[in-house]
Amino acid sequence: MDFHDYQDVWVFIEEKDGAIAPVSLELLGAGRGLADKRGCNLAGILIGENISHLADTMFEYGADIAYIYDQPIFKNYRTESFMQALLHCSNKYKPEIILYGATSTGKDLASAVATDLPTGLTADTTELDVEEETGLLLASRPAFGGNIMATILCKKYRPQMATVRAKVMKALTPQPGRKGKIIEESISLKEEDIRTKVLEIVKETTKKVRIDEADIIVAGGKGLGSAEGFQLIHKLAESLGGAVGASRDVVEAGWIEHAHQVGQTGVTVTPKIYFAIGISGAIQHIVGMKNSGLIIAINKDPEAPIFEACHYGIVGDAFEIVPILIEQFQQAMT
Ligand code: FAD
Repeated sequence: MDFHDYQDVWVFIEEKDGAIAPVSLELLGAGRGLADKRGCNLAGILIGENISHLADTMFEYGADIAYIYDQPIFKNYRTESFMQALLHCSNKYKPEIILYGATSTGKDLASAVATDLPTGLTADTTELDVEEETGLLLASRPAFGGNIMATILCKKYRPQMATVRAKVMKALTPQPGRKGKIIEESISLKEEDIRTKVLEIVKETTKKVRIDEADIIVAGGKGLGSAEGFQLIHKLAESLGGAVGASRDVVEAGWIEHAHQVGQTGVTVTPKIYFAIGISGAIQHIVGMKNSGLIIAINKDPEAPIFEACHYGIVGDAFEIVPILIEQFQQAMT
C-alpha cells in the first residue's frame, strides 16, 4: 500500500430531515484542524436524496470539497447502499482519514466500510490529532473501563478511520458565502440489489429526556444515599430550570432512568453550568461532563477526585448545603 496515494481528511456528513446533523458540523471543525496541520483539503461526503443544497453549509463550516451522491436510492439510510457509495468514493479519491459521528448511523456505516476496506476503525473517539509529518491519526478514547486514555494508531493501512462522539469537538463559526468545490458522483445500484427495505418510518412518540441539550445540569451521585435523598437533586434542578443528571451507580440503583446518566456509557454533555453533587468523580463520569462551561462540585470528602475536575468545589454534606442553595436560588428567581 503506497501511502502517497492517500490524501485529504474526510467527514461523513449525516443528514436528517433536510439538515446536517450537529455532530457532522462538529467533525468538520475537528477535521479542519487536522487538514490544516497536514496542509491538505477537508472534504465532506454527503449521501442522500435531494441533499445537494447542503454543500453550501458544509463549505461554511470549513469543508473545501463536497462529494455528493444525490440519488433516489439513497432516500433513507441503509447500510448496504450507503456503504457502496462510500466505498466507491474512497476507492476513487483515496482519503487519508475518514471521520464519522459515533451515532447509530455513523457507527453502523463505519464498521461496515471497515470490513470491506483493508483498514481498521477506532470507535467512540474523544480526542483527535494528527502527526504533521506522517499523517498518522492519533485517535484517543477511554480504554480498560475508562481507567486510561488510549491513543490508537493505524500504522499499516489507509484510510485511517474513527467514529467520534457527539458534543466533544467544536464546530467552527460558520462563514457565510465561503465556497468550495462540488464533486457530484453516482453509482449504478438497483433497488433489487439491496436486501433491506424501509417499509415505514415511525417517529418517536414518547418525549425522551435530552440532557445533552440542557444549559444547566444538576447531577447527583451515590452520595445522596437513597432514591428519597436523590429528590434533593430534582428540587435544585427545578429551582434553576435545569435538567437532572446522574452517575451510573445511581442509575444502577434504580433512582433514575438511564437517559439521565452522564459519562462513558451514558450521555456526553456540555452545559453552561454542571453541578456534581455526591459524585466521586470517576474517570468514566468525568469524560462525559469535563467540557461543561462551569463545573461546581459538592462532596463531603475533600480528597474526592471530582475536586480535580471542577472550577468551584464545596466540601461538605449535600443535605446541609443543597437546601440552602435551593432557598437562595428560589429567592433570586422570584
Ligand atoms: P461513588 O463513587 O460511591 O461516590 C459517592 C460520592 O459521594 C463519594 O465521593 C462521597 O464522598 C460522596 N458523598 C457521600 N455522602 C455525601 C454527602 N452526604 N454529601 C456530599 N457528598 C457525599 N459512571 C458514570 O457516572 N457514568 C458512566 O457512564 C460510567 N460508565 C462506566 C463504564 C465502565 C466500563 C465502568 C467500569 C464504570 C463506569 N462508571 C460510570 C462507574 C464509575 O466507575 C463509578 O463507579 C461511578 O461513577 C461512581 O458513582 P458515584 O460517584 O455516584 O458513586
